Amino acid sequence: MLSHVHDWRRENPAPDPFACFGKGISVSSRLREVGKPLQKDGENQAIQVAVEKFVNDLLNCVGRLESRFISTVIPSGSFYEGTKITAPNEFDFMAEIQVLSFRGACTLHWHSAFPGRPLVKVHPFLAATLFPDLVSGSAKSISSSSFGNAFEKTLQNALGMVILPPCFESSIRIGQKGPSITLVLTWRGQKYKNLDISIDITPAIKFFHWPQWTDMSATAPSVRKLRGLSASRESYYKLLKEQVTKLGFHVVPVSPLWRGSFSVAEMHILRTFRSESNRLTCYRCAKYFRDHHRGDKKVLSSYILKTAFLFELERYPEDEFWTSEELFPRLHGMMNRLQSESKEELLGSYFVSSFAINEKWEAIIPYAIQRILEDLNLLMLLGPEARCCHQEYM
Ligand SMILES: [Zn+2]
Repeated sequence: MLSHVHDWRRENPAPDPFACFGKGISVSSRLREVGKPLQKDGENQAIQVAVEKFVNDLLNCVGRLESRFISTVIPSGSFYEGTKITAPNEFDFMAEIQVLSFRGACTLHWHSAFPGRPLVKVHPFLAATLFPDLVSGSAKSISSSSFGNAFEKTLQNALGMVILPPCFESSIRIGQKGPSITLVLTWRGQKYKNLDISIDITPAIKFFHWPQWTDMSATAPSVRKLRGLSASRESYYKLLKEQVTKLGFHVVPVSPLWRGSFSVAEMHILRTFRSESNRLTCYRCAKYFRDHHRGDKKVLSSYILKTAFLFELERYPEDEFWTSEELFPRLHGMMNRLQSESKEELLGSYFVSSFAINEKWEAIIPYAIQRILEDLNLLMLLGPEARCCHQEYM
């Protein structure tokens, strides 16, 4: 059963021995301080405006060079979720490929051996007219690697034609990360002098019908089960079932198969909460403690933290669990549960729990989480004076 992890998570809120501590004012105010949101004014806003203009110009140019890659730009990721900390140095955009995102343009073929990783079949007319070079086999499925490469090549050509605004240094570094093309620009600013800003652009195809086999379809409680739940719990499940699943999802090219992406749905959930809310503060705190340890960012990716956080929101939908006093128990409990799941090798994505989210580093994830828990405990014991106790990892 695909949903076993999701069920397991919901039904086994592991008791957290530290949860009753750390409710003091000094701990919660310190957490509110380190997890405060990025201000969206001044130079932060100037960076946002410049980055968005650049990305729009660039993707317009991509569409002029190759009409099959005309796209709709969708901001996604931590900056837009209100979960970025420190500096506005990372931006994510999806380039939703218009001609492939019409209803009926593509169909997906899922195989249980590859959870979350479909084959994409394109309508025969489109295959013959616009994508003959990218379609392989008699199945008329569109090759994710050829598609990704063709898009990247067009983007590289467009980069040579777009004028970079003077607020950036003239050179651009380009790299590839999973399904994304990463551009690194250097900001010429006052507050952020020579700040490297990385911009991830991911080509994506939209699908309107939420897949039947995700955990959300399988396990969000039915109306019958909703009876007797608190009003906030009921409304949270309704948000998931009635709003989030209506948003559709995307597939993005990773080699050798495509991958389902639910980032629009995830963003919708996170944006239900104000960026100063204790809920988002809790998530930003997890990132803050993780970022203390050089190298842990790739082991314990923001995506893993986001997944754990989405579960925490689902487990505790009531506001009474998210007062300032509860900030420490929530953060501690969330990291604790994440640690036990990673030890059991149960780290799946939120909507598709059978889809492993970080196989490469799986074995060392529990240690990265342990470092966060230790720093958190230190904060609880010492209050605002606490600093990281892992000099060798800083
Ligand atoms: Zn530390």
